[in-house]
Amino acid sequence: MSDLDPKDWAAFRAEGHRMLDDMLDYVEHIRQRPVWQVIPPEVRASINEPLPTRPTDLRDVHELFMRTVLPYSVGNVHPSFMGWVHGGGTPVGMLADMLAAGLNANLGGRDQMPIEIERQITRWMSSLFGFPETASGVFVTGTSMANLMGILIARRAVLGAAVRSEGLCTHNLVAYTSTDAHGCITQAMDLAGFGTFALHLVAVNEYHQMDVAALQSAITADRARGQQPFLIVGSAGTVNVGAIDDLSALAALAQKESLWFHVDGAYGALGMLSADIAPRLQGIECADSIAFDFHKWGQVPYDAGFLLVRDTMRHMDAFAAPAAYLRREARGLAGGSPWPCDLGPDLSRRFRALATWFTLKVYGSDTLGQMIAETCRLARYLASQIDARPELERLAPVSLNIVCFRFRAADSDADSDRINAEIVADLQESGIAVPSTTIINNTLAIRVAICNHRTRSQDLDALLAGVLSLGTAHLSSLVE
Ligand SMILES: *Cc1c(COP(=O)(O)O)cnc(C)c1O
Repeated sequence: MSDLDPKDWAAFRAEGHRMLDDMLDYVEHIRQRPVWQVIPPEVRASINEPLPTRPTDLRDVHELFMRTVLPYSVGNVHPSFMGWVHGGGTPVGMLADMLAAGLNANLGGRDQMPIEIERQITRWMSSLFGFPETASGVFVTGTSMANLMGILIARRAVLGAAVRSEGLCTHNLVAYTSTDAHGCITQAMDLAGFGTFALHLVAVNEYHQMDVAALQSAITADRARGQQPFLIVGSAGTVNVGAIDDLSALAALAQKESLWFHVDGAYGALGMLSADIAPRLQGIECADSIAFDFHKWGQVPYDAGFLLVRDTMRHMDAFAAPAAYLRREARGLAGGSPWPCDLGPDLSRRFRALATWFTLKVYGSDTLGQMIAETCRLARYLASQIDARPELERLAPVSLNIVCFRFRAADSDADSDRINAEIVADLQESGIAVPSTTIINNTLAIRVAICNHRTRSQDLDALLAGVLSLGTAHLSSLVE
C-alpha cells in the first residue's frame, strides 16, 4: 500500500492546471451562461451509484464535475443573480481558498501564523466598527451561527457560570428583536434553550425599522409581569428590504435597561466600508457583539461568517473549556492561547480567514466600499425605473441594495400573488435573471437584492423587460 499522493506528479500537475483554467474560464465568461438552469433528471440521476470501491482517474472525475455539477449550481457568480442575499465571489478569493486547502491548517488552536491572520482580521474589524483593541473575533460558517453564539454569550453573561453546568432549567428571560429580523434569530432562541416564545417580536415603522417606543413599552410591560429582559437584537440591513434599525437608540435603551445589545449585520454591517453608508450604521460601535458575513457584500467565497465581541472575557466565558484557562502558560506548539476553539463551539476549523485576508489586502477596503455603494446606486436606479412604469408597483422603500416590487396583475390579491410568483419562477427558469420573492405587508413581492459586484444597469434593464413581458403574458392568459 502506497500513500495517497500522485504516482506521477507531472501528470497530476498538468491536470491541476487544467482544473484551474476551467474555473478561471467559468468566472471570466460567466455572462455567456444562463444564470441558473433546471437540473435535467438524467443529470441528477447520473451521479447516483454505489460507494466507489475502486479508483477513478482524476481526469474522469474532473470531467464529470464539469458536465454534471458546474452548470447546475445556484448561479450567484453571475451578474444577473439577484435572489436572496448571495455574494458573487472573486477569483482572488478562489485562489486563496486553494492555498488554504493546500496548507490544510486546523485553526482550532496551537501556535501558528494562520491564527495570527485571523487575529489580524479581528483587529481590522475592531477598528472598522469602533470596538476596543481588546475585542475578540472568530470566523464561523455564517451569520446564523454567529447570531446563535451572540445569544449564547448574552445567556452566559446574564446567568453566570452555573448555566454551563446546570443548563437553563426554568427561566423567565426574554429577548427582543423586530418582526423584520431574520428567522435565524428565532431559531437561535430555540437552540439556546430559551424557546421561541422567549423572543418578543417588536413591530416596525414604515421604514421597516424596529419601533423603539414599542420596544420600550414591551420591556416595561414584561418587567411588570415578572419577566427578565436580557437581550436586544438589532438589524443592520434586514433581509427583506435592507432596513437599518436605529442602532444608536437601541444601544441607548440597552444601556439604560442593562441589556446585552447584539447586532445582526449579516450583509449590512460591511456598509461601514462605504463613507456613504457608515453614518447610517451609527450606534453599531456601542454593540456588545456583531454578527456579519464576509461572503455577502464582502464577496469572499462561501463560507465566511464572523462574530465580533467587545469583551473577550465574556466571549471566552461562554465557550472555553476549563483546559483553556490552564494552557495559558504553555510553551511550544501548544502555546498561543487563547485559541479560536475557546471562542466558539468548533474545535476543528478550516482556514476561513485566508480568503478574507486576501480579499481585503488585494482589493483594499476603499475599493470594496465603492463596490458596496455602487450596488446601492444600482438599487436606486432600479427603483426609479419601476416608479416610472405604471404596470409596476414598488412595495418598500429602498434603504440599501434591495428593491421589492410587483407587477400590477389583477384586482384580486390572490391573483396578484400567484402571477408574481409565476413571473419569478419563469425568470429563474429562463436563465435571464434570478430574483426571489418575499412577503411585504401580506403581499407577495419580487425581491431584487443586488449583492454581486458584477451587476450593471443593463442587467437590471433585462430583468425589468423580462418581468414586463412575462407579466403581460400571464395577465392575458388570466383574461382568456
Ligand atoms: C443572510 C442573513 C442571515 C443568515 O446568514 P448566513 O450567513 O446565511 O447564516 C442572517 N441575518 C440576515 C439579516 C441575513 O441577511
